[in-house]
Amino acid sequence: MKTLLSLYLGLAVILAQFFAAYFFSKGRTSYRKAFAAMVLCVSVYLFGFLMIINNNNLQEMIFWNQIQYLGLPFISVLWLMVALLYTKTIYSLKIRMALLLFSVPVITFFMRLTNNWHHLFYTKWEVRQLFGYYSLYMERGFWYYVNISYTILCLLLTVIIYFIGYLKNKVGYTKSHFIVFLFASLLPLIGIVLILFAFDERSIDYSALIMPVSLLIISYGILKYDFLEIRTLARETIFENNLAGMVVFGPGNRIIDYNKAAEKFFKAINISLNNYPIEHILAREQKLLEIFESRASRDFSLVIDGEERFFEIDVVPLGGPHDGNTRMLKSIRDVTEERKIQEKLKFLATTDSLSGLYNRAEFMNLAQREFAWAKKNNEELSLLIMDLDNFKAINDTFGHAAGDEMIREIGSIIKIGFRKTDIAGRIGGEEFAVVLKNASLGEAKKVAEQFRETVARRKVIYGKQQISFTVSIGVAAIGGNADDINDIEVILKRADDALYKAKAKGRNCVVTLGSGMEDVTPLEAKKCKPAYLRN
Ligand code: GH3
Ligand code: MG
Ligand code: MG
Repeated sequence: MKTLLSLYLGLAVILAQFFAAYFFSKGRTSYRKAFAAMVLCVSVYLFGFLMIINNNNLQEMIFWNQIQYLGLPFISVLWLMVALLYTKTIYSLKIRMALLLFSVPVITFFMRLTNNWHHLFYTKWEVRQLFGYYSLYMERGFWYYVNISYTILCLLLTVIIYFIGYLKNKVGYTKSHFIVFLFASLLPLIGIVLILFAFDERSIDYSALIMPVSLLIISYGILKYDFLEIRTLARETIFENNLAGMVVFGPGNRIIDYNKAAEKFFKAINISLNNYPIEHILAREQKLLEIFESRASRDFSLVIDGEERFFEIDVVPLGGPHDGNTRMLKSIRDVTEERKIQEKLKFLATTDSLSGLYNRAEFMNLAQREFAWAKKNNEELSLLIMDLDNFKAINDTFGHAAGDEMIREIGSIIKIGFRKTDIAGRIGGEEFAVVLKNASLGEAKKVAEQFRETVARRKVIYGKQQISFTVSIGVAAIGGNADDINDIEVILKRADDALYKAKAKGRNCVVTLGSGMEDVTPLEAKKCKPAYLRN
């Protein structure tokens, strides 16, 4: 009998040690760690029992009983923790909760350790012989009952938690998980109740006998349902380490899970995540709350550490229509770098690097859009085309680099000289165009004249030389839908004709061409001479 029992316990200890080591090596998530610790405690407890039944010396038996208490008080509370974490009743163990849960087991350990001084745990020890082996008989003290009540409470809660998990999960696969673990928790409970009430000899530890069976049920669960297994581990690792922040929402918009990146995102804006509904968590951040409450994917930006950062939120519904689509995953992606690259690419594709104005393609694109808008809304719109005078000669006299400098200078004069809403581009080598919104031909002419004067007054310093330069400007306009112009190209052509006329008139002047009418700004003869040739 004794040999059989020893063999049984010995096997159980080995099995428990194996599980503890196995799950500790895989124990990244909190419930795996809790499970590994729980199995380790079981093995310590069973090993102590194994040593007791193979002993007949009271002092040694008391010693091994003390060893048992290294693990025994913690088993039920750890098993409860596994249940809480596995069923996602809680998502992480907060310090306060750990202190609360572990206070009784820790006190029990010390009560047992110091029992000789106060006898509050065991009041009396005795060796008794039973079925051919010696067993330790103890009279129970006050704290023994406190501890056993707490153990029963933990196991009862565990059974209830798995039962609720079973009821809540409507789908077969996860549902049967809970039944296996419910039974594995029910058995030690029966063992303890037996110790307490069914046997007055008080020297058979039913729990120790039942515990290996519980372990076997759990191993069956592990093998059959992939409980704590590698596939789950892989999925969790991907979730946990994803670069995108992920938040899982349950019914009532409660946060039921989140990963490291999500925690970091919220920490950066001084918000700590917990199990409250989202309106609670984001009460101070109304804009963000609205984004997180929305069921659609959204873009938003936030200023973090003084820098504007851009985010994209994608929404993935979890579960099916049977639970009313109340659960969903929201992933938060920081797209700031992407945005910056996109903006840079867009800038490079649409901007002329020399003048800093729009390039021809972008200018035409925007001008066409503006033209269509003006036509549709019966608004006025003017177009200026300007060309540097005798630019070939400037290049020849001062060099190509000096010519480039001049194009740069014209670019900055245009940027400053026109309204923010006007559209300006470099449409040729030394040819520029500006669309003036809501400007009549007369107004455009005035602006063009001012601009021409500004350019004529400006001197570009290149090396040791001061170079003056001038522009000729052609202006055309549409005045609402009375016009028959239907394409920007037509008005461009008209402005170009005006420019041609300005060149013909002697350069450094403005010529306007409205719908059929012509108006040339008179020029004094000396003004027509290129500025850099004048002295
Ligand atoms: P006009 O007054 O009739 O416009 O005389 P122009 O010499 O300016 O004549 P045209 O417009 O035909 O000549 C344009 C010159 O501009 C030709 C070319 O060498 C020069 N050019 C075009 N693009 C650039 C550029 O990016 N940099 C420089 N430095 N010169 C350019
Ligand atoms: Mg020119
Ligand atoms: Mg030209």
